[in-house]
Amino acid sequence: MASIFSKIIAGEIPCYKIAEDENFLAFLDINPVAKGHTLVVPKKEVDYIFDMEDQLLSEMMVFAKRVGLAIQKVIPCNRIGISVIGLEVPHAHIHLMPINNLHDMSFEKSRLDFSPDQYHDIAAEISGQFK
Ligand code: AMP
Repeated sequence: MASIFSKIIAGEIPCYKIAEDENFLAFLDINPVAKGHTLVVPKKEVDYIFDMEDQLLSEMMVFAKRVGLAIQKVIPCNRIGISVIGLEVPHAHIHLMPINNLHDMSFEKSRLDFSPDQYHDIAAEISGQFK
């Protein structure tokens, strides 16, 4: 069965899209740990990130860097934190999160909630900075 991220990639489920190329898609996490929390996923469905072919994995990190720099232009922060968990959705993905301290990276924090309009605006702003 296709993963939920494959359904997003196929356009069967909506997302707040940040950026896309031939191999990758970046969109806002729907249960964000921080404003601007973004997921970068390969269009080719692979469950475990370390099962990805080396070239594609390298390219995903470079794509994530471009997305992270765009997030940083929109959301004031010290750094963009990068993490890979993958315990919930069996489709490789990188979490990008604007952070100011270690606590900001915690997935145990209560998640934020934004209205559809707010998610839309955040995604549009970040997308506008993507180069
Ligand atoms: P994990 O697999 O543990 O790295 O967590 C998966 C992440 O995907 C969580 O932070 C979820 O909030 C996020 N997520 C799950 N479904 C969606 C969706 N339909 N759109 C955006 N983010 C999602």
